[in-house]
Amino acid sequence: MLRENLKAVQDKIEAVCAKVGRNSSEVTLIAVSKTKPLSDIEELIQCGTTEFGENKVQELVDKYEKVSTKVNWHLIGHLQTNKVKYIVDKACLIHSVDSLKLAKEIDKEAKKKDVIVDILIQVNVANEDTKFGLETDEVFTLINEVSMLNNVKIKGLMTIAPFVENPEENRVYFRQLKQLLLDIKSKNIDNVDMSILSMGMTNDYEVAIEEGATMVRVGTGIFGERNYNI
Ligand SMILES: *Cc1c(COP(=O)(O)O)cnc(C)c1O
Repeated sequence: MLRENLKAVQDKIEAVCAKVGRNSSEVTLIAVSKTKPLSDIEELIQCGTTEFGENKVQELVDKYEKVSTKVNWHLIGHLQTNKVKYIVDKACLIHSVDSLKLAKEIDKEAKKKDVIVDILIQVNVANEDTKFGLETDEVFTLINEVSMLNNVKIKGLMTIAPFVENPEENRVYFRQLKQLLLDIKSKNIDNVDMSILSMGMTNDYEVAIEEGATMVRVGTGIFGERNYNI
């Protein structure tokens, strides 16, 4: 079943790219495997998936250590500073940086392990109270500060759009994030590379791709519903 689900998502990505004149190689599909067993991950690896997303540090580290093949692990959930040390050399990209304190901690731990950590700045474009992420007008300040850190590299922006019935409602937020990315890019800040736009989940990834997403994070659409009670 996972193979069919994956194929269906890949086909939709192809179709929407064709529709808006984008090359589908510009869009990376991240399989969000949170709460799902290792056997599901192994099955997807057999289907050629190399990008996996987790929202909890412990679960990412666990799966990182147990998986049979080397794949790329994206940390997409909120990161507490005291957990940074477990993850800096395991996540290929941290999507959820939203404070200077967190960025400094990542820089510190990255120095100890002699790695450069790629990060995205998480923006709460819809200004939802329940979500982590910076408000749009705070982003420039943070990016200027983080750009000074030697072992952290800003690669782009990420957002979690509101949960809505009709994905069209999120188009405006995706468009705003893309515009913000372009505005930052135009400033040519040293050590800041605005090449990644991580936006779109199962419910709205097609709209996100139409608006310029270069990474989409799809969980339910590939793995089926999550059960948090097990
Ligand atoms: C769970 C999660 C996703 C995937 O959500 P689905 O609706 O299952 O596709 C994407 N991004 C983040 C940050 C998540 O926590």
